[in-house]
Amino acid sequence: MEKISIIVPCYNEEESMPLFYKEICKVADEFKKVDFEFIFVNDGSKDRTLEIARDLSKDDKRVRYISFSRNFGKEAAILAGLDYSVGDYVAIMDADLQDPPSLLHEMYDGIKNDGYDCVATRRVSRKGEPPIRSFFAKCYYKLINKISKTEIVDGARDYRLMTRQMVNSILELKEYNRFSKGIFSWVGYETKWLEYKNVERVAGTTKWSFWKLFLYSLESIVAFSTVPLAIASIMGLIFFLVSFIMIIFIIAKTLVVGDPVAGWPSLVCIIFFVSGVQLFGIGFIGQYLSKLYLEVKGRPVYIVKETEKGKK
Ligand code: UDP
Ligand code: MG
Repeated sequence: MEKISIIVPCYNEEESMPLFYKEICKVADEFKKVDFEFIFVNDGSKDRTLEIARDLSKDDKRVRYISFSRNFGKEAAILAGLDYSVGDYVAIMDADLQDPPSLLHEMYDGIKNDGYDCVATRRVSRKGEPPIRSFFAKCYYKLINKISKTEIVDGARDYRLMTRQMVNSILELKEYNRFSKGIFSWVGYETKWLEYKNVERVAGTTKWSFWKLFLYSLESIVAFSTVPLAIASIMGLIFFLVSFIMIIFIIAKTLVVGDPVAGWPSLVCIIFFVSGVQLFGIGFIGQYLSKLYLEVKGRPVYIVKETEKGKK
């Protein structure tokens, strides 16, 4: 019998988990000829998430769980889930029911009958989100798609169903700085997009502050584009050309009208401006260098403390 693995990253989700479990069971029972496994990834929660996962796995053989030694972030939780999953098809779903489990039917159908390798979801509305956040999100997607060859779809969620073949390809990407939205797109394959309106969380609060999202977006730019590095060199070239023209102009001017001392304020402005640009360029290089540093260290993306089979 075919099996679908459902990966659920959980960070302080004690309130949502039971609700989620109820919903997903309802949907799973509607599938007649498919087996399921639910993999809850406890990402270092400080509440009762782990205990709930333990209890669920005791009562239901389909429930598996992985518990990290600390909070490693959602990207790490997704990777751990993919590593541990054994299903022929793998889905990633939030614990807060913002990803409607009922869509699984349509996803499975898209892969089984329409021959897609992956059926993914994107939100078409951002209802319930602060307007300022929506605005920055729009700008971000415009920017990243200009400077990256990998397409990052606006409003794409991590919620998707993939074939085992695609999951194996994703697992071949061993990078430490993981940006799933980019990785899913980078590996290729045929993806069908389902659109749906934003659903608000059933319980608990979002784990993403504006600042966290901002850093995350910066990380994705460094992970999927090298254009900022090119910008630094292009700016350097422009400044070199400008200064060259200025030097010729000044020499010519001195030869013609002599050299009355003037221009001190403008000089200071230029020094400030140029050093600002230099720092900007160095800053960008630093971003790439820091990522490179983390990659080279080769640290594991996550550390597992316990699974449904017991302590590691
Ligand atoms: N999550 C996680 N580790 C983190 C932050 C979030 O595993 O460090 C999980 C969280 O439990 C949820 C999913 O990732 O299942 C999405 O998080 P959230 O709902 O807070 O994000 P939003 O939907 O607001 O973007
Ligand atoms: Mg959510």
